Amino acid sequence: MKKRVAIVGAGLCGSLLATLLRDDFQVTVVEQSRKKRPLFDDVDCDTGELNTSINRAQGLGGTTNYWHNALIELDDHDLDKAGIEPRGFAPYYQQAWKFFLSERELADCNRAWDANRAAIEHGTSTVAHMVLPQARHNVWNLANKRHPGADIDVVYGHVDRIVPAADGAGGHVEVRGRDGVTRVEADYFLICGGGLGTPVVLARSLGQDDAFCAGYHDHPMAYVAKVKIRPDSKLKQVSCTATMSAEVRAGIIYDTADLKTVVYLRPAIDMRLGSISGPARYILSDLRNDPFSPKKILQLLGNLEAVREAILFKTRAGFRGDYYSVLILGEQTPLPTRGVQLRKGKRPTLNWHVTPEELASYEQSVDKFFAEFADDILERKVLPTPSWDFRNAAHHSGTAHQFVARPGDTSLDFFAVKDLPGAYVCDGSILRAAGIANSGLTLVALGYRLAELMRAMA
Ligand SMILES: Cc1cc2nc3c(=O)[nH]c(=O)nc-3n(C[C@H](O)[C@H](O)[C@H](O)COP(=O)(O)OP(=O)(O)OC[C@H]3O[C@@H](n4cnc5c(N)ncnc54)[C@H](O)[C@@H]3O)c2cc1C
Repeated sequence: MKKRVAIVGAGLCGSLLATLLRDDFQVTVVEQSRKKRPLFDDVDCDTGELNTSINRAQGLGGTTNYWHNALIELDDHDLDKAGIEPRGFAPYYQQAWKFFLSERELADCNRAWDANRAAIEHGTSTVAHMVLPQARHNVWNLANKRHPGADIDVVYGHVDRIVPAADGAGGHVEVRGRDGVTRVEADYFLICGGGLGTPVVLARSLGQDDAFCAGYHDHPMAYVAKVKIRPDSKLKQVSCTATMSAEVRAGIIYDTADLKTVVYLRPAIDMRLGSISGPARYILSDLRNDPFSPKKILQLLGNLEAVREAILFKTRAGFRGDYYSVLILGEQTPLPTRGVQLRKGKRPTLNWHVTPEELASYEQSVDKFFAEFADDILERKVLPTPSWDFRNAAHHSGTAHQFVARPGDTSLDFFAVKDLPGAYVCDGSILRAAGIANSGLTLVALGYRLAELMRAMA
C-alpha cells in the first residue's frame, strides 16, 4: 500500500506538490475554501493594504487565482542568504521555468535577458530579469495539466493542527469543516498554507497558542518619482520587451547595506505626481481583482490620470513615450521583531512595516539610479521620502524560521519541522531571504526539490 501524504493548502506550492507526488503516494489535499476568493480576515494588519486589496486568496490554486505570474530567479547571493546552495539549485530553477514556458518560449526570453544585460550592465547596477507569461495560470489547473496521474483526494476545511504519530497511534490532520472537526490520517504532512497561514498551523500544532512567529519579510513597493527620459534612452528599450508568449521586463537593481532595491519604469503621461500618489495608483490591478467595489470605482473616477497611465502600461503603448513613473520594490531583513503574533481565541496580527534602516537603504539606492542614469534622465520629480507610500507586495516570507530544522542546505532538513515528526514546510514561510524577486518561481523550484526528496521515502 502507498504511504499517505496530507497537504495543507492547495495554493502555489500545495498544488504543485500534490501533482508531483500523486503516483508515489496516496495524496490528500486539505483546502479551506471550496470557492476561489480573496482572504481578507485571516490576519489583522493595518498597514500595507494587506486587507484592503487582494493580497492572498483561497480555493484551489490559492493566491494564484489572482496573481500576475511574473517570474524571477533569486541570484546566487540571495540564494545563499536564504540557506539554499546556489549550484545545486540550478536544475530546479530549470524545472520551474519549464513548468510555465516551453523550451522555445524560454529561449526567446533568455535572448531578451542577454540583450538587456548587454545594454545596461556596465555601471553600479545589475538587471532583474522578470518574465510575465501572457497566460495567467491558476497553478492548480496548470500543475494538473503538466503532471497528470493518480487521483488526488480534496478535503475542504480549515486545518487547525497536525497531530504526529505517537505511542502506536497514527498521525493526522485536524480539519474544521461543515461537518465539525474531522481527521485526515497520514504518514507525512506537507504544510503549504502560505507565509501567513503556515506559521499559525505550525504554532498551534506545537501547542504554542500565543507564539510570536518572527522573521516576516516582503518586498515593500512604492512609486517614488516621475522622470522624462531621452528619446533614445536605453532605459526605454529594456523596460519592456515583448516575445511571442511573454513580456520581459528589466528592473535595475542596486545593493545598499546588503539590501536590494529594484527600480522599474512604468509609462506615464506627463510629470504630474497625482497619478502616483494616493490610493488610485494601483487602481486597475485592484479593480481587476475586485471589479464591483464601489469604493474603488469612486477612487478611479477621482484620478483619471492614473487610469490613463495604467492603460498605457497594460497595452505597452506607453513604452514608446518619454515620461515614466519610477516604481521601487525593496528587500527586507527577517527581523526578530517583525512577524505574526498568535493570540488565543483571537485572530493573529502581523506588524508589517518598513524600518528606518530599510528606508535609508532604498533611498540611497534610488539616488544611485539617478546618478547612474543622469545622462538619460532629462527631468525628474521625486516624492519626498516621508511620503513614499509603501504597499505590501504579497510575497509573504520568513515566518517559519523558528519552526524548521536548519538552514544551510536543500536536503529534507531544510523543509523539516522541528518537533513535528513527518512534517515538512514548502511555501514562502521557509524563505530566509528573497532579494527583490517575486518568490513564485523560487517556490516552484523548491517544490520540485522537496518532491524529489519525498519520492525517496515512498
Ligand atoms: C495580486 C497578486 C499578484 C501577485 N503576483 C505575483 C507575481 O507576479 N509573481 C509571483 O511570484 N508572485 C506573485 N504573487 C504572490 C504569489 O501569488 C504567492 O507568493 C504564492 O501564491 C504563494 O504560494 P503559497 O503556496 O505559499 O500560498 P498560496 O498560493 O497563498 O496558497 C495557500 C493556500 O493554503 C490555504 N490555507 C491556508 N491556511 C490553511 C489552513 N489552515 N487550512 C486549509 N487551507 C489553508 C489557502 O486557502 C490557500 O489556498 C502575487 C500575489 C497577489 C495577491
